[in-house]
Amino acid sequence: MSMKIGAISLGCDKNRVDTERLLGFVLSSGHEIVNDIAEADIVIINTCAFLKSAVQESLDTVFEVKSHENVKHLILAGCLPMRYLSELSGEDGLHEADAIIDNTCYDRIGEIIEDICAGKRVVMTAKAQEKVSPSRVITTPYHYAYLKVSDGCDNHCTFCAIPSIRGAYKSTPIEDLVREAQDLISQGVKELILVAQDLTRYGVDIYGEGKLLDLLRALVALPVEKVRLLYCYPDMCTNELIDYIDSEPKIAKYIDIPMQHASDSVLKRMNRRDTSRSLRERIAYIRSKGSNIAIRSTFMLGFPQESEEEFEELMTFLREERLDNVGFFIYSKEEGTPAARMKGQIAAGVKKERYNRAVALQSAIAEEKAKAAVGSVITVTYDGIDYDKQSFYGHTERQCPDVDAKVYFTSEDPVEIGESYSVLVTKTKKLDLYGRVQRSEG
Ligand code: SF4
Repeated sequence: MSMKIGAISLGCDKNRVDTERLLGFVLSSGHEIVNDIAEADIVIINTCAFLKSAVQESLDTVFEVKSHENVKHLILAGCLPMRYLSELSGEDGLHEADAIIDNTCYDRIGEIIEDICAGKRVVMTAKAQEKVSPSRVITTPYHYAYLKVSDGCDNHCTFCAIPSIRGAYKSTPIEDLVREAQDLISQGVKELILVAQDLTRYGVDIYGEGKLLDLLRALVALPVEKVRLLYCYPDMCTNELIDYIDSEPKIAKYIDIPMQHASDSVLKRMNRRDTSRSLRERIAYIRSKGSNIAIRSTFMLGFPQESEEEFEELMTFLREERLDNVGFFIYSKEEGTPAARMKGQIAAGVKKERYNRAVALQSAIAEEKAKAAVGSVITVTYDGIDYDKQSFYGHTERQCPDVDAKVYFTSEDPVEIGESYSVLVTKTKKLDLYGRVQRSEG
């Protein structure tokens, strides 16, 4: 019997891809997808469990969904079951969930739905290679989509629970990714945003050597307009990779390199392979290229034993390197990780105060950079309408949609979602740019 299925995707863009693949299997098994939970017979919650706060959000969502009288069954998927399977499925477990599954059995969602409708409780963790969905159900605006090239991670940063939740690095073969990309393009996608826990390790597990460049070459050969790279581990951003980003017109002039810190001693305690010097050298090489590649990064504040001097090293690094887009996280003590067992955990108030100082510094840098764009004409891809601001908004090649600041613009002529326009920047507000579409001559 065809059921109405609702889905909620929590956490990161990699989880969003899993949800879209899962929904592809839902459709191919003959069920209907509904956008509103109030209309769903069954709700799938694809959870996040990366941080304690994400675990709480996942559980809160379960209880919230269960409060809808129309929801007959609930399927719990994703990172929460992958991290706490025995606790959730045991006698004192989470009985609100009729099925608890990990991301290796999404292709069996039809059978899982049948079983729970027949009154069975399902716990399924195949621990096999995830299969590529027949056709993904895109949940981003149709002109861009994430392409997840692998799952898991082999880096073992001491603060991170991902390797224990998602397991070892598993690449999806190039031909499967090309097929998935073709399907996305046939649905209207113009920009592919490549994601993984670590993009630069792509292929090592299945081909015996890194194959990211081969994958990029295969993707740009497709009728796609842009391919964007997120999550590149710094020491594996080779000159060859950066040269390729610089020279290939279809690769967005953008790279996301999570650096986490800039003090050698903190990086060592984090089990990161970089030093402040190697990070600065990577940045200098990227900046030596002619195409003005935007650099995005993330940093963590308040890692165990972080001294005021080590924090100041990070501040100096930010002040001197003037990165284009930066995200900051406060360290959170995650069960089962080596960092959680370290002495010298930093008091919450100190972590927050350092976070605020780092955010204030970087915001001032980014605002200055935004102001420098006033008066210039930039190419903006139209992503949607902000009804509060009564304005169109979009992103440039140097901004990742959903991640970085936006460009808000007006237009005297009709504009079409997914198309790109020349926008004259007239003002800024914090990191966002504001402008108007230049009318074409004639
Ligand atoms: S690179 Fe480090 S922080 Fe990123 S997922 Fe892997 S272990 Fe976690």
